Amino acid sequence: MTDRLTFLRALPRALPRALPRPSLRDSLVLATSLVLLAAPGLVDAQTATTPDRARQLLGRIAHDSLEGRLTGSPGAMRAARIIAAEMERHGLEPLGDRGFFQTVPIHAGPPRTPGLPPRPLLAASMAAYDTIPAAQRRDAVNVVGLLRGTDPQLRDEYLIVGAHYDHIGMNAARAVDGDSIFNGADDDASGVVAMLETARQLREGGGTKRSILFVAFTGEENGMTGTTWFIRNPVRPLEQVVADVQIEMIARPDSLAGGPGKGWLTGFERSTMGELLTAAGVAVIPDPRPAQNFFARSDNYPFALLGIPAHTISSFGGHGDYHGVNDEVDAVDFAHFSTVINATARAVRVLADGPKPEWKPGGKPERR
Ligand SMILES: [Zn+2]
Repeated sequence: MTDRLTFLRALPRALPRALPRPSLRDSLVLATSLVLLAAPGLVDAQTATTPDRARQLLGRIAHDSLEGRLTGSPGAMRAARIIAAEMERHGLEPLGDRGFFQTVPIHAGPPRTPGLPPRPLLAASMAAYDTIPAAQRRDAVNVVGLLRGTDPQLRDEYLIVGAHYDHIGMNAARAVDGDSIFNGADDDASGVVAMLETARQLREGGGTKRSILFVAFTGEENGMTGTTWFIRNPVRPLEQVVADVQIEMIARPDSLAGGPGKGWLTGFERSTMGELLTAAGVAVIPDPRPAQNFFARSDNYPFALLGIPAHTISSFGGHGDYHGVNDEVDAVDFAHFSTVINATARAVRVLADGPKPEWKPGGKPERR
């Protein structure tokens, strides 16, 4: 979840075209997926995410050794490698320019505050990136995996399921009891775990009719740079994307949402997505804090501005550890967290197999 909305200037005003796909890479991808499909032991009827499983995966993605996952930092790259390995293990097909990695060119200018790393800014293009002095270039990536749809009529339609894996790094000036690492266990390692576990569950459950792009975005905390780059350089035509579901901050219960096990959807009233989910028995309610404008404060928003029904699932109850060093794994309610992960997987299946969500009159946001 972010405070800033600085990405709007960089966002295209219309749906950009997907780049033509290299046929060699596609055939390699297909060969990889056939090998994985044939591998034994991948299908397990008991696919639900347990609290222990959630704890184990969250512990890796919010680990101190990843140093707060600042966009373009070595710690963020280590997180990206963990995520890519999970995607591969779950049989997703890599859709990046380097395996699962979609390169996001980041320009790190001079530091604003002495002692802090410079704010990562998105380069205008790869050509512009090449003109930046090497010392100011940062290698950042989105991590992108495809679960190919099973229905010949629907497999060319895509659902995006995303979460941001970047967080705000380290800051000695804001250390508490010697801890200067902003682990972002809730914000948003929790969403990344849910995204990965949804991929695992859906694949083990036999796949979905529509295809799903699972994306761990970088740069959410720095003007949604990862999403902006993804939209400018789509791995599949965005005209074929029927909906976007982001998952943000689901590790702790929200008393206003009904407490443990309950989640909410930003912009619920704007489209039919919430109704489709509740009609299918997924317990998700409207965002109980509309004044916070969470609908516009996560990676769903750039997709919504392009006309794609796009919302965020969350259970952020306004805890005081938001963007603080105490957003830690130890503060997570794992029974709640795993319940919301399993509800998210059901929600994604409903959207990938059933009717497409549509905007309601006046529901689609307009660029201000
Ligand atoms: Zn945040």
